[in-house]
Amino acid sequence: MSEEMKMYQCQFTNCGFIYNPERGDKKNKIPKGVDFEDLPEDYKCPLCGASKKAFKPID
Ligand SMILES: [Zn+2]
Repeated sequence: MSEEMKMYQCQFTNCGFIYNPERGDKKNKIPKGVDFEDLPEDYKCPLCGASKKAFKPID
């Protein structure tokens, strides 16, 4: 069974940005296929600037 990469959503008030590992994050120069867990520790939400801790996995 292969591990699926999860999408993560920014929980900051009124943000709701979703990080999709299949798309990456152009604004932060993250290429496609990078799991959220593998993002750099200083990754920030491209919309509101929240840190990784503000993100929660979604189905
Ligand atoms: Zn955000």
